[in-house]
Amino acid sequence: MIPPVSRTEFDRTTIDELRPRLRGPLLVAGDPGYDDSRLIWNAMIDRRPGAIARCLGVADILASVQFARERGLTLSIKGGGHNISGLAVCDGGLMIDLSLMRGVFVDPSARVAHVQPGCLLGDVDRETQVHSLAAVLGFVSNTGAAGLTVGGGFGYLTRRFGWSSDNLLSLDVVTADGRVVRASEQENADLFWGLRGGGGNFGVVTNFDYKLHPVGPEIVAGAIAWPQEDAPKVLDMWRTLMANAPPELAVTAAIRNAPPAPWISQEFHGKPIVALFVCHTGSVADGERLVAPIKKFGSPVGDVVQRRPYVSQQSLLDATQPKGRRYYWKSEFLPTLEPEMIDKAIKYAGRIRSPHSMIVVFPLEGALNKLPDDHSAMGNRDAAFVINITASWEKAEDDATNIEWARAAWEDIRRFSTGGTYVNFLTEEEGSERIKAAYGKNHARLVELKTKWDPTNLFRLNKNIAPRST
Ligand SMILES: Cc1cc2nc3c(=O)[nH]c(=O)nc-3n(C[C@H](O)[C@H](O)[C@H](O)COP(=O)(O)OP(=O)(O)OC[C@H]3O[C@@H](n4cnc5c(N)ncnc54)[C@H](O)[C@@H]3O)c2cc1C
Repeated sequence: MIPPVSRTEFDRTTIDELRPRLRGPLLVAGDPGYDDSRLIWNAMIDRRPGAIARCLGVADILASVQFARERGLTLSIKGGGHNISGLAVCDGGLMIDLSLMRGVFVDPSARVAHVQPGCLLGDVDRETQVHSLAAVLGFVSNTGAAGLTVGGGFGYLTRRFGWSSDNLLSLDVVTADGRVVRASEQENADLFWGLRGGGGNFGVVTNFDYKLHPVGPEIVAGAIAWPQEDAPKVLDMWRTLMANAPPELAVTAAIRNAPPAPWISQEFHGKPIVALFVCHTGSVADGERLVAPIKKFGSPVGDVVQRRPYVSQQSLLDATQPKGRRYYWKSEFLPTLEPEMIDKAIKYAGRIRSPHSMIVVFPLEGALNKLPDDHSAMGNRDAAFVINITASWEKAEDDATNIEWARAAWEDIRRFSTGGTYVNFLTEEEGSERIKAAYGKNHARLVELKTKWDPTNLFRLNKNIAPRST
């Protein structure tokens, strides 16, 4: 649930006072671009900010934060607008929209990318791949880098290099008291600890410095699918494969009805399938050797696992997750792949109520497990996989049936969890109990940090860590 918010409305005077403090546009209802900015990936969310500050630089962000604090306005922060809970958008208050700040500046010799907070993952991949380098980011290229990273972040490179937030070198932040500070191991180390997983609780990040790794530009990767009746055999093969795979190989499994994708035999469109999304980011020769047994397995109904540019793999799933559909997720971290859990996933995939829904399991095991749980706020160092039960449909009248499907599957599968859950996958309704589950033992330290850096909870439209009342 969204915490109670101040309903202060913007009136003409308030708008007239804020507008000259900004270089970027300030949008109100009826302005061109207002609806495009407030409507986000998940169409379940339909809020109307009193005003939207489309910031062009740090000074605009600073002015917006200061203004919201002075006037007691509700404040929300929008990066890529992809969070399922939609907390980037407020009702009545001021929304900071960072989407005009999409600069990526790569220093290839230092292997660092300086990334502005409105960047989408594809922006970062595009610029870093010029130098055959990559940051650790997620699977869908139009997701926001900012929200993903401050909530932890994982993708195909996570088995090799850990959470996205483990690969941060430093951040620049506008804090609740209206200052611009740097957070790194050397400066404001406590804030740096909290921002690596603690979400938008501590300020607005205006720049991310990511450590880059040599990857690509050509890798061996792609997707392969079989009829869903083969799912028990395919997923058993995948389980054994992942237990023995080097960290360079990350294979995600998905069970769903086949989309009308050109790579899947037309006669299987709309029919139940099991798919593996395969990505090997080591040498091409190793990749071809490691994927050969997958490609030879059974009788696939589509197979595009091949040499391809890294950037093409990073956008392979984009079409399955368009902006503007209705979405509801339930998710858990898993310590291992129990055969019984896989059986249950297959069972619930067979009961899917929408052609767009799926159950997907991402591999994580590797580098992240080698760090202590209190290395940063993200924690969850016992996670080896993450399961996401993703309901996705088109019409509001189908809300109940799709939500019910996801919840039923989750109720049956959640006992296989580590006990932890991914903060970035929590829906709007998942409140303090689930937020505590996401942070585990790190939650108490986050409360102390919040009390220090944001004692009035100015940044509260997020998976909120409430400050201690003083
Ligand atoms: C299709 C899809 C695919 C995904 N795939 C992955 C994946 O592969 N790996 C993964 O880890 N996650 C994945 N996610 C989850 C994703 O990490 C979260 O949804 C994340 O919040 C998206 O960030 P955003 O900037 O787009 O979100 P927004 O909705 O814009 O922001 C989410 C929240 O982040 C905070 N925030 C945003 N910008 C800033 C900032 N500059 N400073 C401080 N706080 C800020 C705010 O609290 C805000 O409410 C996926 C989500 C979707 C919808």
